[in-house]
Amino acid sequence: MKKFLAIILSLILVFSLSACGEKQDNKVEEPKVTLKEQLQGIINSEFETPKNIIFIIGDGMGPNDITLAEEHAEGVYDFGLALNLIKNHGLATTHSASDEVTDSAASGTALSTGVKTNNGYIGKDASGNDLKTMAELAREMGKKVGIITDEVISGATPTAFTVHNISRTNTAELVNSMIKFKPDVLMGKDYNSVFMTLGEDEREIFENDYVVAKKFIGFKGAMESDPNCEKSFLGFLSGYSSIASDELSLCAELAFERLKNDKGFFLMIESSGTDKYGHGNDIKGKLNGVVTLDRTVAAALKFMEKNPDTLLIITSDHETGGVKLPNQDTKYLSDLLTVTSHTATPVRVFGVGKGTEYFKDKTVDNTDIAKFVIKAIKGE
Ligand SMILES: [Zn+2]
Repeated sequence: MKKFLAIILSLILVFSLSACGEKQDNKVEEPKVTLKEQLQGIINSEFETPKNIIFIIGDGMGPNDITLAEEHAEGVYDFGLALNLIKNHGLATTHSASDEVTDSAASGTALSTGVKTNNGYIGKDASGNDLKTMAELAREMGKKVGIITDEVISGATPTAFTVHNISRTNTAELVNSMIKFKPDVLMGKDYNSVFMTLGEDEREIFENDYVVAKKFIGFKGAMESDPNCEKSFLGFLSGYSSIASDELSLCAELAFERLKNDKGFFLMIESSGTDKYGHGNDIKGKLNGVVTLDRTVAAALKFMEKNPDTLLIITSDHETGGVKLPNQDTKYLSDLLTVTSHTATPVRVFGVGKGTEYFKDKTVDNTDIAKFVIKAIKGE
C-alpha cells in the first residue's frame, strides 16, 4: 500500500512539475503571422548587396496567365499568388535577333547574356560566337551554380544559361556539354535521356564527379552522402505536371541549402508547364503551371528572410498561347487560349532585393533584365 501511495505521489509530482515547468517557461506566445504577412514582411524588408542570385523563369508564362491563375488555378494560396505581393514589377519585350516572335533558345540566351541572338541559338550571338553565360560568369566570380528545370536538362532554357551550341536541337551535344560544365546542383527530368546520351569522357565525369539521385525522394540522402559538397549533385525529378506541384519548390529549398556558401550562388529555376500546356492547348494545365512557379517564388522569399543578401528575379522567356482575358461572351476557360504557338506579347518581370525598383512600372527589354542580373553577379 505504501509503495502504491508512493507511486501515486511521485506521479502527481511529475505531472505537477511538468505543468509547473510549462508555467515557468513563461513562453511568450509568438504572434500568429499569416503566410501573406510573412511574405509581405520579407518583400518590404531591407536588402543587402546580393551575394546570392535566384532567377526564376516561367517558360511561356504570359501576363494573362498570371492574372487568370489567381482566380482559376488549383492550389493558389488563400490570399492569391505570392507573385502578386511583389511591389517591384514591370514588363519586358522578348523579340529575338532573327524574329519578332522568339523561341526559348534565343530568349534564354538574351536572359542569360544580355545579347539578342537568332532563334535556335544557345549561348551564342547572331554570328555564332560564344557569349559568356550567367553560369560561366557566376563561376568566374567564385560563386556556386545551380540549374533546376522541371523539363530535361538539355532544354533550351537550362542550356542557354550554361553552355553553347549553334542549335537547340543538338540534344546529345547539349547533354554532354551540360554534364561537362558540372553545375554544383543540376536537377531535371528523365535519367535515361541523360545516361544513354553520354559520351565516353562525359560518362567518366558523370560517374566520378557527380552524386546522382534518380528520384526526388532520394535527393536529400544523396546530398548528405557528400556533405562537403565536393561533388556536383545531379537529381532527376518527375517533371512538370498539369496539376499544381510542390516538387519544384522542394527542389529549390534543397538547392538553396546545398549552394549556400561564403561567396554566394547563382541559381536558375525553370517552371515549364506554362509553355507545355500552352502548346498542348490545355489552359488548366497552363494556369496550374503558374502555381507551381508561385510556390517556388514563396520558397525563395522565405530563404531571403534569413538571407537578405539575395536577389530574386522572376520573369518569362516569352508568352505561349495568346491567352486572352475573359469578357461577357466567354463561355469556356479554354476559349481564352487562342493559339498553340509563342507570341510577341511582352512578359512580366518581378524583382525582390536591392535595386529592383528599377523594374517598377517600366517596360524593359529582356536583355536589360540580364544586364541587371549580370551587374549583381559581378557585385557592381
Ligand atoms: Zn520558352
